[in-house]
Amino acid sequence: MERREFLLKSAAGVFTTSLAAPLPRMATEEKQDNPKIIYRVMGRTGLKVPVLSFGVMNTDSPELLKKALEMGLNHLDTANGYLRGNSETSIGRVLKETGMRDKVYVATKIFLARDWNTGKFTLEDGGRAPGATAENFNRLLEQSLGRLQSDHADILYVHACDNADMVNFETTLNAAVKAKEAGKTRFIGVSAHSKVAEVIRAAVDARVYDVVEAAFNFQRDDREEVAQAIAYAKENGVAIVAMKTQGGARREGDPAAFNHKAALKWVLSHEGVSTTIPGMTTFEQLALNYSVMADLNLTDEEKKAVKLSSAGKGGFCQDCRACVSQCPKGVEIPNLMRAYLYSEGYGNPSHAEWTLDTLPAEHGLLACRECSACSVQCRNGLNIGSRVKKLKQQFSLYA
Ligand code: SF4
Ligand code: SF4
Repeated sequence: MERREFLLKSAAGVFTTSLAAPLPRMATEEKQDNPKIIYRVMGRTGLKVPVLSFGVMNTDSPELLKKALEMGLNHLDTANGYLRGNSETSIGRVLKETGMRDKVYVATKIFLARDWNTGKFTLEDGGRAPGATAENFNRLLEQSLGRLQSDHADILYVHACDNADMVNFETTLNAAVKAKEAGKTRFIGVSAHSKVAEVIRAAVDARVYDVVEAAFNFQRDDREEVAQAIAYAKENGVAIVAMKTQGGARREGDPAAFNHKAALKWVLSHEGVSTTIPGMTTFEQLALNYSVMADLNLTDEEKKAVKLSSAGKGGFCQDCRACVSQCPKGVEIPNLMRAYLYSEGYGNPSHAEWTLDTLPAEHGLLACRECSACSVQCRNGLNIGSRVKKLKQQFSLYA
């Protein structure tokens, strides 16, 4: 079957499932709404979720997960690679133990190799990431479902589609559509850290994706452009799940100086954002983020905090890629900066290491091994050299 024909057929299937037929395994109709929680509907999926969801990237604590569910959160976001599989395993165990699988929406993601020169998916393995073939996609999906102890995900993302080409890559797109048709997932989407506005628009225009998980915060230089793309998604029934809402400011600098509630509220002031997935690791963070739902309006003090932090940018990599061409070895510096953020900002060295491991040797931290002094300048004032040095010290494989 030609791709175009397949897409149209699949799109018809998607819309039939999403709009006309009763949704399978719907849980929220049976559930009384919690008055302390602000809910939004995730576009044409019809899933009703609190504006605060749980990004289960930095913890596999069953107690924290159970507490979040007890408080009424009903959407857990994970990925095949998070905590090297322990995030999914922990979610699977908790949902089995509590008997809450049918009351909770579980989203997971499949990360496949890309060619860092062209910025496109590649069928070849790259770093420790398997090549972007249908076989690898399906194998990782089965692995995720096994860990989750479930026969389906609620949302399945093609992980880290960082441009329109990746969104439209036939192999991954068709594999995701087929997984949906086979009932392995109820809805499909893409996640994006780079060129976020472009990815959102491409995902909407592809007419098969239901959700985009998008990096969005008030510190991004492209926030206006992304906000417009989010509005476009809303008009077209595609849900937006916002990630990286804090701009990585959790531990860097003076944490007390950063207003986390203000950051979350700023993201949620965009109606097209259905929910947010901060990566919480403590009961205090859970309580703080939950308290945002008491009132989504920014106080005067919070407005001031947004303005101040916006000006300082808080050491946040904008993924503008202006640094890449300065490096004689073409190292994927934005991904190194993301690994640094996971390690130093989120306190999650395991995910930092996984991020480094997905890079091929010639474009990753290994390429920095012979470089004693890094002269690459960041357009936004990040000290790339000192961050690279710190990563090398922390991860001995790359020292
Ligand atoms: S120039 Fe700075 S902000 Fe831009 S991608 Fe490089 S490290 Fe990130
Ligand atoms: S340390 Fe050397 S190889 Fe690594 S990013 Fe800097 S200039 Fe490039």
